[in-house]
Amino acid sequence: MASQPIDQAAATLPADKRASVYQSTKATHEKRTKLLFDQFNDPDLLRRRAGEIKQHVIENLDTLLPAVEAKLKANGAQVHWASTGDDACAAVLRIMQARGAKKMVKAKTMVSEEIELAHYLEKHGIEALETDLGEFIVQIDQDHPSHIVRPIIHKNRREIATSFEREGLGAYNDDPETITRRARQFLRHKYLQADVGLTGANFVSVESGRLVLVTNEGNSRFSLAAPKVHIALVGIEKLVPRDRDLGVLLNLLARSATAQQLTVYTEFISGPKHATQPDGPEEMHVIFVDNGRTDVLASECREILRCIRCGACLNVCPIYRQASGHAYRSVYPGPVGAVLSPLLAGKKFPELADLPKASSLCGACNEVCPVNIPIPDLLLRLREKGKREGAPLAAVGTPPMGAWALMASQPTAWKAALFGGKALNYLPTKLIPVPALRAWEEKRALPAWRGGEFRKWMKQRRKS
Ligand code: SF4
Repeated sequence: MASQPIDQAAATLPADKRASVYQSTKATHEKRTKLLFDQFNDPDLLRRRAGEIKQHVIENLDTLLPAVEAKLKANGAQVHWASTGDDACAAVLRIMQARGAKKMVKAKTMVSEEIELAHYLEKHGIEALETDLGEFIVQIDQDHPSHIVRPIIHKNRREIATSFEREGLGAYNDDPETITRRARQFLRHKYLQADVGLTGANFVSVESGRLVLVTNEGNSRFSLAAPKVHIALVGIEKLVPRDRDLGVLLNLLARSATAQQLTVYTEFISGPKHATQPDGPEEMHVIFVDNGRTDVLASECREILRCIRCGACLNVCPIYRQASGHAYRSVYPGPVGAVLSPLLAGKKFPELADLPKASSLCGACNEVCPVNIPIPDLLLRLREKGKREGAPLAAVGTPPMGAWALMASQPTAWKAALFGGKALNYLPTKLIPVPALRAWEEKRALPAWRGGEFRKWMKQRRKS
């Protein structure tokens, strides 16, 4: 039986990295649960409300998008539309070239990762420097983020100190405060030199045309303070209908992402600076990016567009904790990535068709998702799609499940298996002649077989 690419990647992950991913995700998850249940009588109610708000958005994009465009324009922003990642990159380049701009400072934005903006700009002679500490480290290492909120969850401080030394950012020192101070010193000059500041947006209010940015480092604020031009790259699903909806979503986002009551910086940006204001960008451009989102909207998994990129489903997922982010071969790892990445891949869906199978379907992701996305259901729908479309990776690893499906759909075979199952209790499994099975069995203790009793129990219950 062939293994899936995600299994192969997970198998190469060193044990110490796996342990640090596990510890870090577990600690955040536990803190998040405690915070939510200590502070809200019924966090589930809040979650369902948040899910309804976002579901309303994705079902009404046709009216909400023109409405937010009008509002943004009234606020003085220029609005652009990009169907593909290439269109979005070209739009950024056009804005920069029109002003002879050569340097950009970038706050963390998943959309820019998705469309590989930094590489594109680099090819056109433009420096696009990441300013989020984690993303900065990923950039100098020419690496990829492995978590949507904590991009360097796979690195330890010794590796980071080595990278800083290599880049001429001081002699080796793995004290986290020193690392942070050195990055700050380096970046401060860059903010002042930059022509353009680029951000994403966590939410855009249709009611007021405000962009909402949440960060813990304040780097997005710095990215907007000095440069004359602000460009915001925004996925078309990032809208909220009213300002008051932000009360629900911001409360859940901070708690779900980093187990904080509120992120350190929550910025509301209403447009470029007015003549009476002393600082801020003179021009503001908002580029709404589709890049496959309308295809997702038309698919059987449209609910995934409710996602607010909090990363809580990654932190709780037993597969992500074992495999870490790179194994997902996409900007979006974990349960959200297992649904979103194959769909956003469009024609390349078959290349990522193993991802929906990278789940134990335990339902933990659904339980923690602040916008109540039924991720396990969506994974099942995608497995079905992979099978329907004959995607080779959707079939990898299926023989045991194929045998299981056959057995479970034939009452006689099922009864025979239940009867035979009892024999497992007496089999000398340590002597299995198949090496792979023996190695598997050596690491696990098979529980005693207790199956086959339900019908007996039901019959007796009916009699009594
Ligand atoms: S799917 Fe839900 S839990 Fe996962 S990142 Fe998105 S909002 Fe967070």
